[in-house]
Amino acid sequence: MKRIGIDIDGVIGDIFGAAQKAALEKFGVDIRYEDVTEHGLSKCTALAEWQEKEIFQDPDLYENMELIPGAREALLTLTFLGWDIWLITSRRFKNASPITWGWLRDKGIPFQFFHLESYMPKVKSAKLQEFSFFIEDRYSTALELSTVVDVIMMAHPWNDRPLNGCIARLDGWDEIGKHLGVEMDKEYEKQYPGLGSLHRAATE
Ligand SMILES: [Mg+2]
Repeated sequence: MKRIGIDIDGVIGDIFGAAQKAALEKFGVDIRYEDVTEHGLSKCTALAEWQEKEIFQDPDLYENMELIPGAREALLTLTFLGWDIWLITSRRFKNASPITWGWLRDKGIPFQFFHLESYMPKVKSAKLQEFSFFIEDRYSTALELSTVVDVIMMAHPWNDRPLNGCIARLDGWDEIGKHLGVEMDKEYEKQYPGLGSLHRAATE
């Protein structure tokens, strides 16, 4: 059995899209994806630090977040192929755990385990649970994880940095599937015909 650790924001959920919408609605600040070259919107856009803090501490941001294209299909495929999926996020706001559980359920995301980093850091789980891979979007976390596990970094402007031999920076879930040797979006349909569409119908 293969076990994989997966980050949520910026990997499964479109945290940038949700923050972009919130910045415009709350503060009238229009931020562009390609400008976000740092992990922290106030470091690279017109958004002030206090505005950024307000956006990221508001549970609505996480409850309204859309999926990154292909994320659900990829996780369904991995599940049906027998992969053990651990979701680990560093969210720090009130009720982060139940809010995240609710979002994962509403979006139909399959997983075996979920925990916040406040319970156990990603790098410690990766080591203890002997993950085969960890999928992450934050550069500093990817570097840290790469000391104990092969890291797949989902490419975004905020993580376009020098890589080491244990980090593969890949563009979206199709590329990630190829890297894992799995044909995403097709495998589970082949093995369980109709289940994927039933699952989508039930969750959309
Ligand atoms: Mg992330």
